[in-house]
Amino acid sequence: MLKYIDTHSHLYDSDFEIDIAEVTERSKCNGIFKVVMPSVDSTTHPAMMNLAGSLPGFAFPAIGLHPTSVKDNWRQELDFVIDSADKNTYVAVGEIGLDGYWSKEFMNEQITVFEEQLRLASERDLPVIIHSRDATEEIFNSLERCKEMNIRGVFHAFSGSYETACRIFSYGNFKLGIGGVITFKNSNLPKVIEKAGLDKILLETDSPWLSPVPYRGKRNEPSYITLIAEKIAQIKGCSIEEVAQITTLNAGQMFKL
Ligand SMILES: [Zn+2]
Repeated sequence: MLKYIDTHSHLYDSDFEIDIAEVTERSKCNGIFKVVMPSVDSTTHPAMMNLAGSLPGFAFPAIGLHPTSVKDNWRQELDFVIDSADKNTYVAVGEIGLDGYWSKEFMNEQITVFEEQLRLASERDLPVIIHSRDATEEIFNSLERCKEMNIRGVFHAFSGSYETACRIFSYGNFKLGIGGVITFKNSNLPKVIEKAGLDKILLETDSPWLSPVPYRGKRNEPSYITLIAEKIAQIKGCSIEEVAQITTLNAGQMFKL
């Protein structure tokens, strides 16, 4: 059986509460043997840690403050991340980044929080999971200011052009997180993935959101990684075995799994 790592699943979301055992079983049956769980903020942290505790060797937590959770209490939330990161429990700092889509009200604070978490990742030698939405230039400005740091990671739910991808790669060991969007009609991702090497790609679902076709609009889950791998194989004209093998190797190396 082909083996996969889902590098981005909010498996601790309340959407999975009633049938987490079945969801986990379906994932394992489809070859998904490890899942990285990105953090959002302190309110969802207990649920994430509980699930990580009940699925050892399968669900691995990250620690980070999501840009859409940067509000008035950002300093307190950021300190929670920094204090938590002292425990050697986490495989990444994330998800972190900038989001100008939902609100620009706290953009300056988002930038401060993002760069402090880049520094945290660098100090702890952890990869970052970057969320970038309607803030591409601001993200590059931050990467430029932090380029002396030891930063590696993934641009989660990447949806930019091939040129943007190349700009990202110029900052070092960065991968593109590719999920269900690649299966959507009118997605520009197939054109980007045609040109990008498989060594630059990590597979992710972002479950429970962003389900691939034919489940678009329904709840997403890690087992659907196979649909994303299939689509990438189709685009690149290679076997699904090759996609599974290379992207799983990439994920294993990035998160030290
Ligand atoms: Zn996410």
